[in-house]
Amino acid sequence: MSDATARSVPPGRSIRFRLLLIALLPTFVVLPLLLAVAIMQWNQKFNDTLSLKINGDLIIARQYLARVLDNTGRHIEALGLSARFRDAVNSDDPTTLPRLLELSRQELDLDFLYIADERGDILSSAPDFAAPSIRTEWPVIASARMDVPWTTIDIFSNEELAAIAPELAERARIELVPTPNAAPTERSEETRGMVVHSATPARLRGGQPVVLVGGQLLNQNLDFIDTINDLVYRTETLPDGSQGTATLFLDDVRVTTNVRLFEGRRALGTRVSNAVRGAALDEGRVWLESAFVVNDWYISAYEPITDSYGRRVGMLYVGFLEAPFTSAKYATVLIILAAFVAVAMASAPIFLRWAGAIFRPLERVTATISRVESGDLGARTDLPQARDEIGRVANHLDGLLGQIQERDRQLREWNDELNRRVDERTHELQLANRQLEATTKQLIVSEKLAAIGEITAGVAHEINNPVAVMQGNLDVIRSVVGRRAILARTEFRLLDEQIHRISQIVAKLLQFAKPEEFAGYVERHAPDDVVADSLLLVRHLLNKAAIEVVTDKGTTRLVLMNRTELQQVIVNLVVNAIHAMPEGGRLTLRTRDVDLDDQRGLTIDIADTGVGMAAEVMERIFDPFFTTKRQEGTGLGLSISRTLIERQGGRISVESEPGRGTTFTIWLPEAS
Ligand code: ADP
Repeated sequence: MSDATARSVPPGRSIRFRLLLIALLPTFVVLPLLLAVAIMQWNQKFNDTLSLKINGDLIIARQYLARVLDNTGRHIEALGLSARFRDAVNSDDPTTLPRLLELSRQELDLDFLYIADERGDILSSAPDFAAPSIRTEWPVIASARMDVPWTTIDIFSNEELAAIAPELAERARIELVPTPNAAPTERSEETRGMVVHSATPARLRGGQPVVLVGGQLLNQNLDFIDTINDLVYRTETLPDGSQGTATLFLDDVRVTTNVRLFEGRRALGTRVSNAVRGAALDEGRVWLESAFVVNDWYISAYEPITDSYGRRVGMLYVGFLEAPFTSAKYATVLIILAAFVAVAMASAPIFLRWAGAIFRPLERVTATISRVESGDLGARTDLPQARDEIGRVANHLDGLLGQIQERDRQLREWNDELNRRVDERTHELQLANRQLEATTKQLIVSEKLAAIGEITAGVAHEINNPVAVMQGNLDVIRSVVGRRAILARTEFRLLDEQIHRISQIVAKLLQFAKPEEFAGYVERHAPDDVVADSLLLVRHLLNKAAIEVVTDKGTTRLVLMNRTELQQVIVNLVVNAIHAMPEGGRLTLRTRDVDLDDQRGLTIDIADTGVGMAAEVMERIFDPFFTTKRQEGTGLGLSISRTLIERQGGRISVESEPGRGTTFTIWLPEAS
């Protein structure tokens, strides 16, 4: 596996992170952005709608004001043309006209009504104020003189109002209330009066042209402003809690209004904010937006009012309390936000579950690959049967991993098999080597034996003849000496013995060198009988060494072998055992029926309790001429014994322990 797969993926790039982003981005980023844009758009539209509404309100108020002016004008005009007026003018009674004017003033709800002549002199008036201080050169009057009736707004000074009636001057007087945001001023009161000023041409008796002039003071004219307000703001045109307001401004001072100050007092004498004043009065613009009115925010409309001179002398205002709209707006936004949060909360878990359904299998796949990389070939994703692409990939991966695991298992098996075979071969090789070594050793021994045999045979023959000559001459000397030989009989006996011994050694040497020449005829023998005969031969040696002899006859089988040879082997082994027990001991001769390699046979054990042998001695005892008995040993006994036994298809083996004793075992096949 490459490092690249094992390397951990940075969190920002992981599929999990990206899927979560994809799942949550629309809900938590895109949707809020869209919502924000929509709310802003809606807010703009909402404000536009409010502007449109306030504009409509202003139009109604303006129309009402125009109608008031128009009505006033038409009523005065009608009065001038009426029969009552003509009759009063023509009446000889000088009180008739003033009475008519006073009656009409009251009927028309005017504050003053007078007749002025061409020069401006007041001919009659209601109330009666024939004071010369009244100004009659107003543009409205000038227009009426030119036969054009005109009704407009004019501003009367306090003195002018006082000249008409002191109570008018008093009604006009309004104390200024300090108002936040208003333009700074030195004044403490407004004394001027805003008047609906109407003039219409009329005729006196004899056709003398005069002007009929009427006026209504608007300062503190609460009926007037309440009517406007009622007209514009019927209850159903505004939401609950909102409140319509209307105001007439003289300059920037509220001279008549239904805007309330604290404790329900009307806000007369308060002033408009500097901003509105600048826009409406100074620049002559219509103000259509939110404005701080006295003590609260109102959606407001202000438009300038011009007098008969064309000067901007005041403002008409309508407006309604903004707070209910704002709270309705906030409530709506809150509902939208709450709805959004609810939808997000409800949908986010669903999106997360969907995203999870995608990335969880991917994580399982990654985890499985990591486990496989760290050696767990049995790791599987174990995802349920594929329903989608990722599931199919995972199932496919499981399949591939299964194949890899199977291949791995096979490889391991092959590897084990290979190792087993190598071990087998190695073992066989070791065996072969050992055999080779044994064979080589055998070969060397055979070569050595062959050479020794050749030499020994030659030497034995060479010795045999002199020994025969010596024996013959000894016999001659004995017969020559005759009876006197008795004198040297010990010497003769010793010579006989030694010559016999030489003959024996030579015979043994020849037997070793050319055993086949010495092979006698073979017969069936009971081993126990041969053992008993052999013991007879060595009886004197056994007695000398105080050795206890135990015989254990345990075979009924017969062997096929030359009797002398078998006797020779047993005698040789018994003599060796006697030598090994110089201080005495026990010699055991045991026979048993034993099959070897599926071949029927028997064993003859010759066991002693003597000195035993060290391992390195035991290895070499069957080598010819190996002896530890320097004086009396030839080292040929065991070598010849083995040759004789093996020639009959038997075997000879040894077990020994230093200090405890030795057991030689002869196995011979049963005679068939
Ligand atoms: P020899 O008896 O002439 O030495 P052998 O071939 O009979 O020759 O024996 C070789 C050697 O094996 C002996 O010298 C002796 O060291 C050892 N050996 C044989 N039999 C015994 C035994 N029973 N106990 C201890 N050593 C033995």
